[in-house]
Amino acid sequence: MQVIIDPHAGPCPGVNRALGLVEDHLKTPETLHALGAVIHNDQEMQRLQGKGLMVLEQTFIENCDTADEFAGQRVFIRSHGISPQLESKLVNSRVRLVDATCGKVKRVHKLVANYYRQGYQIIIAGKKGHPEVSGIAGYCNNEAVIVANKNELPAIKPDDKVLLVSQTTLAREKFIEISDALLTLHKDAVVSDTTCSYINKRHEQMQKFAASVSVVLLVGGKSSSNTAVLFEICKNANPRSYHIEAPDEINMEWFKPDDRVGITGSASTPVWQLEQVAQFTSSPQGAFNK
Ligand code: SF4
Repeated sequence: MQVIIDPHAGPCPGVNRALGLVEDHLKTPETLHALGAVIHNDQEMQRLQGKGLMVLEQTFIENCDTADEFAGQRVFIRSHGISPQLESKLVNSRVRLVDATCGKVKRVHKLVANYYRQGYQIIIAGKKGHPEVSGIAGYCNNEAVIVANKNELPAIKPDDKVLLVSQTTLAREKFIEISDALLTLHKDAVVSDTTCSYINKRHEQMQKFAASVSVVLLVGGKSSSNTAVLFEICKNANPRSYHIEAPDEINMEWFKPDDRVGITGSASTPVWQLEQVAQFTSSPQGAFNK
């Protein structure tokens, strides 16, 4: 059996930067609090917490009147970003922010704030409750309509001014489906494709990789929406695809002796996890001798 790691796998640039910042700040003895999981990957989060990272529920801070209990302490903002309301609360409480908001997400913040000021109704194509979407919605005073598909588009009056943006990790095809439907309803709508080019490229690469091997092991957090999308792509390209978080989920019955096993990951899967799965699958203790 041959085991191959997808050469394009590994965290996206935004998550990579966030992980690097966390590692750097953990080198000093001061406590680092993260607003929610830095990465949707339990194993990586356990590793970082083992190095001293403290994770705060973002909703806990959102629901408190102030963040005064963290005054003077370091609080980490993950690549998803946060709403301006939450940022003001932290700044007013003199919290020291370590901001790893991805530049592409910041671009959406600016765009939404700009059009909202001009009286536009903002529509966000994405998942309600996703932290990135909630952060973006804050830039239009939480007045955005969030749609997961074209059927959820709101009724629009002819003279309404409308801006459509996207959660960065939404599949581009999905966004196009929604934007086409919006433009049919309202030809003057402003459509800004804010899907992440890295993620879109990954979708194509993932499809090719999955089709080139006999079995796919997609390593990624079960709570990650990006991983769920990638798994669907793998399954469509190769029905022998399995989504796992760790080597102990591998079942020997998935493999045949002549298989080429391809190991890949989502935008939130560190390379060490892919190597761990590859090592397990190739080792005498792995799939065939479990
Ligand atoms: S998926 Fe794209 S937009 Fe989102 S954090 Fe990664 S690089 Fe940034």
